[in-house]
Amino acid sequence: MSREFLDFDAPDGAEIRREKNKARDLRKSRWWQQKTASGNCYFCKKKTAFKNLTMDHLVPLARGGRSTKDNLVPCCKSCNNKKKSMLPLEWEEYLKNM
Ligand SMILES: [Zn+2]
Repeated sequence: MSREFLDFDAPDGAEIRREKNKARDLRKSRWWQQKTASGNCYFCKKKTAFKNLTMDHLVPLARGGRSTKDNLVPCCKSCNNKKKSMLPLEWEEYLKNM
């Protein structure tokens, strides 16, 4: 079971599902191919194989973020895992210190 079903404080499940679908469509788009062509993680700048790049929302959906091109960035699995394990504030601190 994926994580979002356990987040009871999510604003609106239907809305988040819609944004997730939008993100999935964007991931198939030319725009995303170009965005990930360099293969660099947006956060740590490490070169990452395309299959290991995930699509990350800068402002999380649960915090009112949307699946728009300026809110979606390529993110390596290790940053993604760190982000998931941290509170939003901890993650912001982590980025500042990078
Ligand atoms: Zn990274």
